[in-house]
Amino acid sequence: MTVSAQPVASHFINGHYVEDTDGALIDVIYAATGQKIAQVHSATPAIIEQALESAKAGQKTWAAMSGTERGRVLRRAADIIRDRNHELSQLETLDTGKPMQETLYVDATSGADALEYFGGLAGSLTGEHIQLGEDWVYTVREPLGVCVGIGAWNYPTQIACWKGAPALACGNAMVFKPSETTPLCALKVAEILHESGLPAGVYNVVQGYGHVGAALVEDARVDKVSLTGSVPTGRKVYAAAAAGMKHVTMELGGKSPLVIFDDADIEDAVGGAILGNFYSSGQVCSNGTRVFVQAGIKEAFLKRLTERLATAVIGDPMEETTSFGPMVSEAQMDIVLGYIAKGKEGGATLTYGGARLDRAGFYLQPTVFSDVTDDMVIAREEIFGPVMAVLDFDSEEEVIQRANATEFGLSAGVFTKDIQCAHRVIGQLEAGSCFINSYNDAPVEAPFGGVKMSGVGRENSKGAIEHYSQMKSVYVRMGKVESPF
Ligand code: NAD
Repeated sequence: MTVSAQPVASHFINGHYVEDTDGALIDVIYAATGQKIAQVHSATPAIIEQALESAKAGQKTWAAMSGTERGRVLRRAADIIRDRNHELSQLETLDTGKPMQETLYVDATSGADALEYFGGLAGSLTGEHIQLGEDWVYTVREPLGVCVGIGAWNYPTQIACWKGAPALACGNAMVFKPSETTPLCALKVAEILHESGLPAGVYNVVQGYGHVGAALVEDARVDKVSLTGSVPTGRKVYAAAAAGMKHVTMELGGKSPLVIFDDADIEDAVGGAILGNFYSSGQVCSNGTRVFVQAGIKEAFLKRLTERLATAVIGDPMEETTSFGPMVSEAQMDIVLGYIAKGKEGGATLTYGGARLDRAGFYLQPTVFSDVTDDMVIAREEIFGPVMAVLDFDSEEEVIQRANATEFGLSAGVFTKDIQCAHRVIGQLEAGSCFINSYNDAPVEAPFGGVKMSGVGRENSKGAIEHYSQMKSVYVRMGKVESPF
C-alpha cells in the first residue's frame, strides 16, 4: 500500500501542524501520472509571522541545552527516519516522481546520515583558550540564531535535513521553506524531529512560492539564509541577505565537466557518465553534463553507453525494478524538451533518445548528443534533465582550459588509470566537489558545494559547522588596566 500524500496541514510551526486557508492553493502533482495527489496553502503573512516568532523563542530554549542533549535528539530522529524509510521513500517518490530504486537508498537515508553525523558532533563543539602571558582569551562557539532554509525540488527530504541538521547541532532554530513543487517531505522531517524530543519552534516548515522565501530572507529576525536553487534565484537571495548583513550558504546550479581519457576503464567511465547524467532523470545539480571524451576512446564509449542506456527500465516509479522515472513536473519537462530542440538546431548529433514517451506523466527518454562543441547552448547552459552532451578532446592542456571555460564551478570528474594525470587534472579544474574514477558520491563526511557562480559555503562535513556558528572572543586581563588618561 502506498502512503497518503495529503499532509495533515500545510505548515508545521511551534511543534504542530498549522493551516491558514487564506493562503493561495498549491497543487501537488504526481509526476508519474500527471494527477493531483495533494494540496497545500502558501503561507500568509500571519503564518510567516508565527513561524519566525516561534523560531525566535524556540532557539533560546534549544541553545540553552547542552550539545550532547541536542545531539541526542538529532540522533533519535535519524533512527526514526531509518525505521520508517520505506514509507518516507514512498512519500519522496510521490513528491518528486523519482523511482523507489533511488529513494529507498539516497533520500531519507542521507537525511538520516546528516542528523546522525551532526548529532554526533553537537557535543564536541567548543571554543579555545589562547594564553597571552598572564592574560588570556577564550572563544565561545555561539549559534547564529534563526536560520532560514529554502529548498529546490530535486531532493526534498535530503535538503531539509542537510540544512536542518548542522543548524540545529549548533543551537540555531530553522524556518524551512520547501520548493512549491515538492512541499510534502519536509513536513515529515519536522514531525519526526518533534517526535524525537525537539522543543517546539526549533524546526518549522512553511509552504510557499518564491515571494514567501523572499519575505523570510528580508525579515530582520533572520540571521542566516541557506538556499539550494538556481543561479538567478541565488543572486536575488544573496543580495537580499546582504542588505541585512546575514550569513549565507548558496548551493546553486552547475554545468560540470566529466573528463574521460583514452586509458580509462570503459565500463567505469560509462557507469560514471550514466550516474552523472541520468540518475534522478538528470535532475541533480552536480551532474557531469559536459562529458569530454578523448578521441581514442570516443567510439567505444558511445557504443557501450547506448547499449547500457537501452537496458534502463523506464516506468512506474513505485516498482522497485524501475531505474528511470519521469521529470518532476510538466514545466521542467518542457524546459528540457526546449533544450533538446536547441541541441538539434545547433548541429549536435542526436545519438540516443530525444523524445517524450507516449504515456501519462512527464517521461522523457534518456538523451545523448555527441559532436557537441563548446559554443552550443546545450554545452553552456544548465538543462537539469536527462541530456548528456559529449564533446571531443585531444590533449590534457586543451581539456582543462575548455572544462574551466564556464561561469559554473560545482563539480568535476576525471576517469583515467594514470594516477598522476588524474590528480594533475583535478587539481586544475575549478570546482568544489570533485571525483576521480567515480561520480556524484556525496557522503555526509565530505564537504559539498561549489565555486564561481555555483555557490558560497559548504554543506556537510565538519566544515558546515563554520557556516552555522560564530565565534565570540573574550579577553581576560589578570593585571591592572593601563590607560593614557
Ligand atoms: P529555483 O531557484 O527556481 O527555486 C529554489 C527555491 O527558491 C524554491 O523554493 C523557490 O520557491 C525559492 N525562491 C524563488 N525565488 C525566490 C526569492 N526571490 N527569494 C527567496 N526564495 C525564492 O530552483 P529549482 O528550480 O527549485 O531547483 C533547480 C535548481 O536548483 C537548479 O539550478 C539546480 O542546479 C539547483 N540545485 C542546486 C543544488 C546544490 O546543492 N548545489 C542542489 C539541488 C538543486
